[in-house]
Amino acid sequence: MTRKQLIAGNWKMNGSLAANQQLLDEVLAGMQTAAPRCDVAVCVPAPYLAQVQAYQDRSRDASGRARLDLGAQDVSMHEAGAYTGEVSANMLRDFGVRYAIAGHSERRQYQGETDVHVALKVKRALAAGITPIVCVGETLREREEGMTEFIVKRQLSAVIHLNGHCISEIVVAYEPVWAIGTGKTATPAEAQAVHAVLRAQLKAATEHGERIPILYGGSMNAANAAELLAQPDIDGGLIGGASLKAPDFLKIIASAA
Ligand code: PEP
Repeated sequence: MTRKQLIAGNWKMNGSLAANQQLLDEVLAGMQTAAPRCDVAVCVPAPYLAQVQAYQDRSRDASGRARLDLGAQDVSMHEAGAYTGEVSANMLRDFGVRYAIAGHSERRQYQGETDVHVALKVKRALAAGITPIVCVGETLREREEGMTEFIVKRQLSAVIHLNGHCISEIVVAYEPVWAIGTGKTATPAEAQAVHAVLRAQLKAATEHGERIPILYGGSMNAANAAELLAQPDIDGGLIGGASLKAPDFLKIIASAA
């Protein structure tokens, strides 16, 4: 089955109004010169959602479609109320957010997010009509102990159990923790092997498992993107560092189908 690929930038906690403007201008100019075959999104810090939404409105294509989809880097597991600092799925929806990352390893590691928290975040996002990008991945120690398959299946199964048939609307991102921001990338064969495990799990959970996109993330860059994206179960990329440099991000976009 052919799945349209998705290239999603994760700006993490980077940017400023001026720097974002310049980055968006350069990315958009490149996308106008060479129209992407894939979908493209940027997951930006919450304070910049309005800036990117306004930018989307000024740069729609002839059919009125935004050239870049807007994503958030997190979403609250709560609906509303006394949760200081949290941003709800409905608030994200107000800003035209299409995707929300859930369970990025940096949040699992630094904010203590558990599989249950991630599953609840996915539920909130889906209820608001936002596509969650569910991150799963093993640490270096877990890989060395031969635990990779067990870990990613456990992380995904929490999401499946809480969300049932709705998981046909999610995007999964396999992000080996040891590859994020380290310059170390899983080889295409290593990544494909884990994607195949996740694909089988999705297919066992829903009849739509074949069409759920599974992205790879972890030091994907202009040089390694084409080979990774050519793997049968790699349907795009979640791109951190390289999404902050327009020429690199554009080369990754050009490598996608
Ligand atoms: C990420 O933040 O999801 C990521 C994959 O980062 P990097 O591309 O910098 O490894």
